[in-house]
Amino acid sequence: MDRYGRREHTDRIFLGGCALPVISPARLYVCGITPYDVTHLGHASTLVWADAAAAVLRLAGAQTLTCRNVTDVDDVLTHAAAARGRRFDEFALEQEYLFGRDMAALRVRRPEYEPRARHHVGQVVQLALALLARGRAYQRDGAVYFRGAEVPAKIGLTVAEATELAAEFGDRPDDPARADPFDVPVWRPSADEAPGWPSPWGRGRPGWHAECAAIALGVLGPAVDILAGGADLNFPHHAYQAAMVEAATGVGPFARATFPVGTVTVEGAKMAKSAGNLVLVSDLLSHHGAAAVRLLVLNRPWQQSWEFRPGDITVQANQLERLYSAAGRALGAPAASDALTAALVDDLDVPTALGIGEESGGDAARLVLRTLALE
Ligand code: ZN
Repeated sequence: MDRYGRREHTDRIFLGGCALPVISPARLYVCGITPYDVTHLGHASTLVWADAAAAVLRLAGAQTLTCRNVTDVDDVLTHAAAARGRRFDEFALEQEYLFGRDMAALRVRRPEYEPRARHHVGQVVQLALALLARGRAYQRDGAVYFRGAEVPAKIGLTVAEATELAAEFGDRPDDPARADPFDVPVWRPSADEAPGWPSPWGRGRPGWHAECAAIALGVLGPAVDILAGGADLNFPHHAYQAAMVEAATGVGPFARATFPVGTVTVEGAKMAKSAGNLVLVSDLLSHHGAAAVRLLVLNRPWQQSWEFRPGDITVQANQLERLYSAAGRALGAPAASDALTAALVDDLDVPTALGIGEESGGDAARLVLRTLALE
């Protein structure tokens, strides 16, 4: 027993129907931001949940290594920087700083690794060469395409579903250079004004999925314990990231568990810059405490999409007050801390853990507040 009255170790955690044995270090790859705009609640929700997942792994006795990439080579970013007359890398650094400030304010623990895509271009070239050597990619007109015809079926999508999702992310399945509509670029040629690096196929830049594949491979190795990101990244992004790493290394599965966090909606529409419905983290934090905003995100099943309603933060703030007052009570039953840990390792059941903390008070309340960084 430790000083909170809970068992030192739990042998596994359950995540989305997957039982993960607790093995140290537990490696988390968290798909990070493209630093071209302000941090909104949709991003923050995914990153707060990934933060909580790592905290629960530590509660279960694991050491954690988190890699959260920065997608600073991306056409959206290049265009946003150009519109302001800025270099893409300088503009990205500035946005990355503001994002880091928002994450710190939300008490998201700083990941052990925060690699930038532009520092891993050489590894994308290596990935492309490995895929070519294994016959899993081909080159055409300065580009290298990954053979992805089997990727949709591998994650249970029909061709029609996959085509629609790929189009949503601006992919171009109708590109005549591709041997199959589901082939995707590992490497793309760059026009003079676009960011570009030398490669065996001429000046170019990485494709998005290849960036995350090469970064994960370079930082955490050929497999990760948890692949985390917004649920909308399941396909194409995470499916291709995993397929590329597996094809290049022959090691599989790439991710022992996936952690696709539910989408945040406003009046039924996904929160997105293009929808013009952003709720900014900095605005929320100017009116509410960080713990209340974290609880708004965490006090629900992680896989479910949810609707943002401003009044709901007050409900969470009230629950926090009750927890704080419960935490002030003496000690509490050791069994409650065990039950609370059991709830958190069982698919991160935060509502049940909060209920136990509030009812039992003392150590159990302090344990849930500390684990979820709600103090
Ligand atoms: Zn990614």
